[in-house]
Amino acid sequence: MSHLLQITEPDEVTFESTTAVVGIDLGTTHSLVSIADETGVKVLQLEGSQSELVPSLVAYGAEGVCVGKKARDIFLQEPSRVAVSTKRLLQAAQKQLEFGGHQVTPLEVATDILRYLKQQAETTLQKEIRQAVITVPAYFDERARSATRDAARLAGLEVLRLVNEPTAAALAYGLEKNAEGIYAIYDLGGGTFDLSLLSLHKEVFRVLATGGDTHLGGDDFDAVLLEFLLIEREQQLGKLAFSELDRKSALMLMRQIKEQLTTKSSGCWVLDYQGCRSEHQLHRFQLDLLCEPLAESTIQICRKVFQDAELEISEIKGVVLVGGATRMPLVRQKVREFFGQNGLCDIDPDRAVVLGAGLQAKALSYGSTSLLLDVTPLSLGLETMGEVVEKIIYRNSPIPASQSQEFTTYQDGQTQMKIHVLQGEGEKVSNCRSLAEFILENIPSLPAGRARIAVTFILDADGLLQVSAHEKTTGIQQMITVKPSYGLSEEDMLTLLRQEGTKSPDSKQ
Ligand code: ADP
Ligand code: MG
Repeated sequence: MSHLLQITEPDEVTFESTTAVVGIDLGTTHSLVSIADETGVKVLQLEGSQSELVPSLVAYGAEGVCVGKKARDIFLQEPSRVAVSTKRLLQAAQKQLEFGGHQVTPLEVATDILRYLKQQAETTLQKEIRQAVITVPAYFDERARSATRDAARLAGLEVLRLVNEPTAAALAYGLEKNAEGIYAIYDLGGGTFDLSLLSLHKEVFRVLATGGDTHLGGDDFDAVLLEFLLIEREQQLGKLAFSELDRKSALMLMRQIKEQLTTKSSGCWVLDYQGCRSEHQLHRFQLDLLCEPLAESTIQICRKVFQDAELEISEIKGVVLVGGATRMPLVRQKVREFFGQNGLCDIDPDRAVVLGAGLQAKALSYGSTSLLLDVTPLSLGLETMGEVVEKIIYRNSPIPASQSQEFTTYQDGQTQMKIHVLQGEGEKVSNCRSLAEFILENIPSLPAGRARIAVTFILDADGLLQVSAHEKTTGIQQMITVKPSYGLSEEDMLTLLRQEGTKSPDSKQ
């Protein structure tokens, strides 16, 4: 494959001084914003300079919409009002969710977070922000990528580029500048785990393979710790009521305990719920024992990715650690054992992705010669006879990619053909995800098997897909281009933008 994507125009583009281009890591648990200028990239302090990490939480209620730290405070009192880890749902961006009596979709939640990040960054920088590079997990499918783009646009941001998170992390390490070879990016966040294998050759970046689990992360470590302490508590105090609300706030405490045990080898903590206190002493080795099966599952996934990619672990030059949970000594040890080397962690694992996004924003604004190649994580294909899926672009193909294939009619005089676009590895339609469907009309009436219909898939650099079809036999050409049907149509987008325009952002906080 030789599709090289030049991600930048040559030099000589400069920022207008009153506007800025930012990098955004829209995380499942936390989101961050970075800014690049001539001197370098820095992560912005947001929420009144309190922190770089903005909780990716949105609270809905009578007073409007609250994002970030305020939403986290509300979460501790009234969790049912707060949208948590909604990034996982972006693949079904229009799904109806309910928080505090408000109906919202994952798309709207993402829009609220992005709008808040934009406002916060504008306050910090005292500049208007119109454009951004946003990172997405490498496994994000068409729907989730479209939804991220749509959400940004609704939040008033033009997306210069969607960059895969592992690629951004590798950029932050500057691997493209001085390294050649294959690198693994091990990303363990709050709710998700991803392993990506990137190859770097002559300053060209390529994602070779990705794998992961969208329901495995630091939150699960918190949950096993809580189960353990609740058993201890029961031994101390007998069986006690423990409400869902107690559980939510206890989980926050578990997160703190877990994080403290990263640097301390032991400590004492108190669980004080429903007027009953229990005391617990905990050593790091106990936490390690509890978390071992979860940490081991990340390694099983790594093994699978290597098998898929037909690569040996010894071929890996370095392992980059990304995501807050990779600070855990247990995780670092597992990585060391599996890869036979220490993970790279010179850059704070929370910040690697957003720093890479900032570098990318800078490259797109100021110009650079970096080349960037990514890979599609899922195969794309078409429905054929007997509900069988014919793959057109295979998983792990480098993008941008374009592929054509010819099809024909199976009935005499057939003048229409259904083009049903699917994504996934299954052989049957029912095992794949339906992306789009349209009917190619005006096929000349010919005996079965005589019409020649070429279907072309074009997957662009952001991982967005366009499908076109035309009939070749008679010289009559008909070309249809579809956008995946899960994304918003231009009309829907305009309607939504009009609705958004009537709300003042300030009234929402
Ligand atoms: P995401 O990419 O999903 O938004 P992050 O990269 O922000 O997630 O990771 C959040 C997770 O990292 C949480 O589970 C948090 O408890 C964990 N984490 C952060 N700091 C530490 C630490 N010092 N030790 C252990 N875990 C940590
Ligand atoms: Mg992350």
